[in-house]
Amino acid sequence: MTTTKEWVIPPYANLTWEQHAGRNCVFCDRPLHQGAREVGRVRRDYGVPLRDVPVYAGPCCLGTP
Ligand SMILES: [Zn+2]
Repeated sequence: MTTTKEWVIPPYANLTWEQHAGRNCVFCDRPLHQGAREVGRVRRDYGVPLRDVPVYAGPCCLGTP
């Protein structure tokens, strides 16, 4: 029996400023130092132009050293 850990990226509206600025982990909101990886993008739903913002997660959630 295998369990695949699947992270769901929260919608842009639920992210803190630090999270969508790439400063904090998008999943647990811990500050990112090293080993952060882009895990996806969220669509910013206000402002012009609309654009996709990359979000990052660190070893804290990715489970990699
Ligand atoms: Zn994390």
